[in-house]
Amino acid sequence: MDITEFRKHAHDMVDWMSDYLSDIESYPVKSQVNPGEIISSLPTHAPENPESMEDIMADVKKTIMPGITHWQSPNFYAYFPANSSYPSILGEMLTATLGVQGMIWDTSPAATELEEVIMNWLKDMMGLPKDFYGVIQDTASTASLVAILTARERISEYQINAIGYFTNKYRIYCSTEAHSSIEKAVKIAGFGKEALVKIEVDNELKMSPGKLEEALKGDIMDGLIPCCVISAVGTTGTVAIDPIDLIGDICKRYNVWHHVDAAYAGTAMILEENRYMIKGIEKADSYVFNPHKWMFTNFDCSAYFVKDKEALVKTFEILPEYLKTNADSVVNNYRDWGIQLGRRFRSLKLWFVIRSMGVKGIREKIANHIQWAGELSELIKKDAHFKLHEPQNLGCVCFQLNEAIGENQEKRNSLAKNLMDSINQSGKLFMSHTKIKGEFTFRFVIGNTYVTRKHVMDSWTYIASEASKNLKNV
Ligand code: PLP
Repeated sequence: MDITEFRKHAHDMVDWMSDYLSDIESYPVKSQVNPGEIISSLPTHAPENPESMEDIMADVKKTIMPGITHWQSPNFYAYFPANSSYPSILGEMLTATLGVQGMIWDTSPAATELEEVIMNWLKDMMGLPKDFYGVIQDTASTASLVAILTARERISEYQINAIGYFTNKYRIYCSTEAHSSIEKAVKIAGFGKEALVKIEVDNELKMSPGKLEEALKGDIMDGLIPCCVISAVGTTGTVAIDPIDLIGDICKRYNVWHHVDAAYAGTAMILEENRYMIKGIEKADSYVFNPHKWMFTNFDCSAYFVKDKEALVKTFEILPEYLKTNADSVVNNYRDWGIQLGRRFRSLKLWFVIRSMGVKGIREKIANHIQWAGELSELIKKDAHFKLHEPQNLGCVCFQLNEAIGENQEKRNSLAKNLMDSINQSGKLFMSHTKIKGEFTFRFVIGNTYVTRKHVMDSWTYIASEASKNLKNV
């Protein structure tokens, strides 16, 4: 392809992208292909000779599109959102075009310095402490791993980096509702899964500070060494909010690193009325939230904040001769702020989003999502087939079948799963599930960039009518 052809195909691609996004509601939200269907329609070997962009795009339409689940559909309510938006897509296009690898300041000063500025903007927008330092990580999973590794090095006085593990006495703590990435991080960090202590939750599925303190005390008495506590502002299952203020006090008392995972809920801190959820955040050692979930910014873009920048850099720094530059003593070299060396220019899309929507525009969308989630909750409460899980938090609405439906939990769970499968199969909307105390629980998360109140209400009308059709009347 030469530059003239590139220009033509790029224009065609933008037309295709715009058509796709304006027609997105004509696709079934959840892909309806069977396992292996895409593999069997693709050639087993790479083409020897060049193929035309027309042929490639024809195969995108024929083969790839049926296997796409339309995350950007306004009727996508599953998991947590992974939003994009028009300005974010433009930012990604520019990032791809510049093709910058921003591992150090020298390799593109603007990539480093824009990231520093945008992380400071985010602190300000979200009411985070001024003494936090921000850096973009690829995902919250990586950010939590970075936090756990930094905590490990701080408590071991950087000895594990130097000589490897010399004891298996370190302990990491999170609640039974923490995201699976925490257990994964503990395994990757070399602590061993048994070093992870899962603290019981209360009736609202929040970590119990009393149980945490009991565990820390007991472990210390047994000669173990508490290293890190991970709390969640917004658990994955039900968006339960751990009491980070109390947990922060406990961590200070026992000199334990406190990492706060606000992967989804963090964006809601743009609204001052939600900041009670991060009361006490100034006591935390690190904090993560994902603009790539709810802040209209394409995956991947995870905002990680840390108080002790020196501990972070000391954990990850490595300076081979070929990466030394004249600017090293006066700039941030983000290769030392995380795991990977090479880095994409991710702050660009975030800059585009924040400038194009304005903080006000982002705030308004988030407020609407939360408001509609509240309205939907009221409708669920009034429907005899369902029971709302409370407290309902932010844009996530969790609900179950009413106990009168199905003679026992097993029967109810199977009815609920069938109902969800057939709703998702319809292609009209896509929601996901979790289990609370063994009970199948629908999760309906309102957070898509293009969702309107009408989408939410129409989706609910459909869910309610399917329930009336398929479940016994109660
Ligand atoms: N933490 C929480 C609370 C989450 O809900 C999720 C994903 O939903 C993650 C971490 C993992 O996020 P990521 O995909 O950015 O690693």
